[in-house]
Amino acid sequence: MVKNILEVRDLYLYYKTYKGIVQAVDGISFNIPEGQTLGIVGESGCGKSSTANTIIRLLPKNTYKYEGSIKLNGEEITTIPMDEFRRTIRWRKVAMVFQGAMNSLNPVLKVGFQVAEPLIVHLGMDKSEALDRARQVFEKIGLTPAFLDRYPHELSGGMRQRIVIAMAMIMNPQLLILDEPTSALDVSIQAQIMNLLKSLKKEYHLSMIFITHDIALASDISDLLAVMYAGEIVEYGPIEEVLLNPQHPYAQKLIASIPRLREDKEPEFLPGNPPGLINPPKGCRFASRCPYRFEKCSEAPDLVWINGNHYVKCHLYSEGK
Ligand code: SF4
Repeated sequence: MVKNILEVRDLYLYYKTYKGIVQAVDGISFNIPEGQTLGIVGESGCGKSSTANTIIRLLPKNTYKYEGSIKLNGEEITTIPMDEFRRTIRWRKVAMVFQGAMNSLNPVLKVGFQVAEPLIVHLGMDKSEALDRARQVFEKIGLTPAFLDRYPHELSGGMRQRIVIAMAMIMNPQLLILDEPTSALDVSIQAQIMNLLKSLKKEYHLSMIFITHDIALASDISDLLAVMYAGEIVEYGPIEEVLLNPQHPYAQKLIASIPRLREDKEPEFLPGNPPGLINPPKGCRFASRCPYRFEKCSEAPDLVWINGNHYVKCHLYSEGK
């Protein structure tokens, strides 16, 4: 049996704002087996990026509640003191490619040095040794060593995104979190970056979390899929099961919205908006948009396990309908 690299249980992240408490991540649970990729999909503001921030523990100052369990290779990492977490976990074991990161490269430093810098700062390597290691990583990501001496403005968007991936990979992390890594790229470059990520996954047996609003893109690389809605995971399971036989009405609507080349069927649109995460509805958070809602939906649904690795959060199943 493949062991889990990541086990998340009852994870919460709330923010305090002047308008009230934002329940950004509200009691989510999932596993990622070693070498596999979990796609996290959902509309903007549903808690995808906040989930990533809880794992790499980049919590804003206005964090109001950070609770739950995150086990990396069986080790609880939420309770590790922050200094130790920075020294031993962040970047070394868990690295992240942030949304829009390719636009935040330092314009006055050569990209080779920017990729090598974590080795100098965190591992105390000397500069030439670190640049050698950067050169090896550049080859893996499809850039010749000549690129080490380029500045960010000399590179295209796709090349800059490769550099950002190299920065995340330089310390050989076990888990790589990618937050919308292709959203700013045109489709042909997007395809190249997806191919690069798939080859890195295979070559390094790398476990990944792939965050996107694009469920079709997630299906290209993911083994598992978590569908998030209003701070909760409403469905989680193996990608084929969730895509071919979605159980939650929101997951069904998301999948029905994907345009299909070989079918006449028009994509469906989901009317309405998600609820605000300050005082969200007490019952099912999808109820105002759900075509199947019924009386019981005024109560919050529990997780219902469809099988060993596939759950849904919906009363339709707890009611046995
Ligand atoms: Fe729809 Fe009720 Fe299921 Fe929510 S719990 S998704 S409202 S059927």
